[in-house]
Amino acid sequence: MDTPVSLFWFRRDLRLSDNVALAQALQNGPVLPIFIFDRAILDKLATGPEPRVQFLHEHLAAIKTQLEAWGSTLRVYYSTPAQVFEHIKSEYPALEHVFANQDYEPYARQRDPAVAQQLTQQGVALHLYKDHVLFHEREILNQAGNPFTVYTPYSKVWRARFTPDMLAEHAIEPRRAHFWQTETRWLMPTLAAMGFAPGTIAFPDNGFKADILARYAAERDTPAVEGTSRLSVHLRFGTISIRQAYTAGFAHSDKWVSELIWREFYQQILANFPEVVNTAFKPEYDQIPWRTGPAAEADFAHWCAGTTGYALVDAGMRQLLKEGWIHNRVRMVVASFLSKHLLLDWRWGQAHFAAKLIDFDLASNNGGWQWAAGTGADAAPYFRVFNPYLQAEKHDPTNTYIRRFVPEYETLAYQMHPIVDHAFARQRALEAYSVGLKGKPLREL
Ligand SMILES: Cc1cc2nc3c(=O)[nH]c(=O)nc-3n(C[C@H](O)[C@H](O)[C@H](O)COP(=O)(O)OP(=O)(O)OC[C@H]3O[C@@H](n4cnc5c(N)ncnc54)[C@H](O)[C@@H]3O)c2cc1C
Repeated sequence: MDTPVSLFWFRRDLRLSDNVALAQALQNGPVLPIFIFDRAILDKLATGPEPRVQFLHEHLAAIKTQLEAWGSTLRVYYSTPAQVFEHIKSEYPALEHVFANQDYEPYARQRDPAVAQQLTQQGVALHLYKDHVLFHEREILNQAGNPFTVYTPYSKVWRARFTPDMLAEHAIEPRRAHFWQTETRWLMPTLAAMGFAPGTIAFPDNGFKADILARYAAERDTPAVEGTSRLSVHLRFGTISIRQAYTAGFAHSDKWVSELIWREFYQQILANFPEVVNTAFKPEYDQIPWRTGPAAEADFAHWCAGTTGYALVDAGMRQLLKEGWIHNRVRMVVASFLSKHLLLDWRWGQAHFAAKLIDFDLASNNGGWQWAAGTGADAAPYFRVFNPYLQAEKHDPTNTYIRRFVPEYETLAYQMHPIVDHAFARQRALEAYSVGLKGKPLREL
């Protein structure tokens, strides 16, 4: 077809409202919207029930329905970006522009330049916009011009640089007539055609609950109550806009705004130091002698299954299996338990969370794990070993949360058999960290 057309490529921004690159694309119109189920990513996932692919599928179907109500459609491919762009350019020789929002993960930072190069050869320009964060990785720097590696000074500069106009909406609906108009209804690949199946996890909705945000500072550490927003999966996939999230935060809870800034802090850590995915942010922490071998693997299996005999840890790990989500306080407890009590490599836990969390986000997951293991940019000190019993007493004093996931926790049989003794585990962790970090056992220091 010879009509000039632009393309909008949905990635981590699955919404038809307040979307920076989409709003830009629609200024030029007509715009052909596409999504690619990227085989380079999907082929690495286990087949069968896959909640994140299901989540994507459901939200894409909703976007497609809306676009069809506006006289357009959504093209959804199951392929690779290289093949898709090759194909589209042959179908639409007059294609000149591709619009998308920036993705800061290492895979995307390899993919996008390769796509840009391919498109350039075809006479097409790739335009990338900032949409996923308010400040990208080179916008908040210290006085020496380097990225911050500690949250508090980062957040101070973030707040000083913030201006309310950054929250202005990038509206889509007023320009909806600029979507490519067609009678053709695109057929989406089914989950089964891609090797997946629907699971049983119920996804949280994406509404901003003002009452939860108003109580957030007081209740965010109590896993038994609905004290946090549960918007993480939506922020992950862009089914809500970060500008709308900050708008709600500034209206109802400054503490919640601080958590959104943690998210941006970890985004910039990953973007500036992509090696953190596989190595400790503080390199000396890669000398810690993590346990390996059959006993270590057996302990890891107990941790994954939620059968450690530590009620708060087990409740958290069972919540993960059931809901694909864990309360933040409990994420910290289970992660600390894995790396310190069990002395297992935090990367094992990171990988398990990556497989199971519906809100899995490489930057926040890595940041959370490296924080808990003490290895990270702005981490808990290595000698801070969370006591899971005290954490339960403090944050779940009536055992309401624990009882929800570990009904047998009051039985003697359960309480008699923790997989490791707390005092022993704590001492072992301190010794191992000491040997790893200082080359000497504790008693010789
Ligand atoms: C070991 C570990 C692993 C984690 N893995 C992930 C992950 O894969 N994906 C993820 O989104 N979060 C992760 N977190 C951070 C945090 O636990 C979740 O963002 C939060 O529990 C999500 O629930 P919510 O939406 O109700 O959060 P709320 O408390 O309502 O917070 C609002 C939003 O702020 C952001 N946020 C909150 N706390 C943090 C934090 N500590 N770090 C970064 N962003 C934060 C999230 O986007 C969250 O949705 C991890 C934390 C730890 C300790």
